[in-house]
Amino acid sequence: MKISKVEAIPFKIPYKVPLKWGLSGYLDAAEHVLVRVQTDSGVVGVAEATPRPSIYGESLPSIVHAIRTWFAPMITGMDPTHTEKIWAKFDGIHWNPTAKGAIDLALYDAVARARGIPLWEMLGGNSDRLPVGWMLGMRSVPEMVQEALENQARGFKAFKVKVGVDPEKDVQVIKALRGNLGPEVLLYADANMAYSISTAIQTIKRMEEYGLAFVEEPIPAWNSNGRIKVAQAISIPIMGDESCFTPQDVAREISLGAIGLISIKTPRTGYTLSMKIVHLAEMAGIPCLMGSQAETGVGTLASAHFGAARRNVSYPSEISFFLSVQDDLLAEPILLKDGVIELPRRPGNGVVLDEEKIKKYRMD
Ligand code: MG
Repeated sequence: MKISKVEAIPFKIPYKVPLKWGLSGYLDAAEHVLVRVQTDSGVVGVAEATPRPSIYGESLPSIVHAIRTWFAPMITGMDPTHTEKIWAKFDGIHWNPTAKGAIDLALYDAVARARGIPLWEMLGGNSDRLPVGWMLGMRSVPEMVQEALENQARGFKAFKVKVGVDPEKDVQVIKALRGNLGPEVLLYADANMAYSISTAIQTIKRMEEYGLAFVEEPIPAWNSNGRIKVAQAISIPIMGDESCFTPQDVAREISLGAIGLISIKTPRTGYTLSMKIVHLAEMAGIPCLMGSQAETGVGTLASAHFGAARRNVSYPSEISFFLSVQDDLLAEPILLKDGVIELPRRPGNGVVLDEEKIKKYRMD
């Protein structure tokens, strides 16, 4: 089997409610890129690239450009199973993580479809389902409590809370959520690097009193020494996200000893680099979850297969955001019951695209 064509199709689907995080994070639509890898055997692999200029420096046009003019010509004619050889070529161009990541996801999808097995089986086969939590973007305390209660009633048992801008409000929202949701739910906070070292230590210690399970990226990711200081001063683990973009980042953070959990995002590391990360973490005794890049259904299924396949992805994942998108490119919706994604039995990632919806939402 040979790669015959790689397509990059930009599309836009509005979110139901705008998502706010960190000091300036704001998104009101999925403006993403559908990636299709065609093969000479007729099998097609699909994936979703998520431009995040403020996080990775990639834009929608830069991803389309990188795929059409660099990566597609680079790998056309290659065997889609030869991912190490393909990444050796990708490494010739710096960064562009979600352009490379999406192609990688689509390659594995094509291979699993050709073999007639679902991706969760090809990637490790631990399970065909994945528990997921609900992410609360920054809103007023009553709005966040209301949103959490509605989603607890829908079956979600884990909640990620975006914090970092107003430490006093952050403590109040964790207190209010714990009081309203009860002692059983898993509550954790993501500061998206917005606290200073001293504010992080003071604020997290106060949140710990309300049973906060762990805290994600309290201070700027570049400050590894600061992260060690925070980790030593608080009693709960720090989860690495912005500090753990690459397997090399993960190896460094593990050796420094500041992180106790890792957020794996297949949009930025594909399956090839995500596998390196999950192995590094497992050997260091560090559990993982699948982090959200606010993907639509295509990206959600790609990520869910990896999380379900691996035993060390043992915390509830974050990939329920597809429920907050107004529509989807999927002809067969994702099954989510009581906070658990049940993966389709179809080969590959199980994505069935709705060609009419692609026509409706594509931007080129
Ligand atoms: Mg994060």
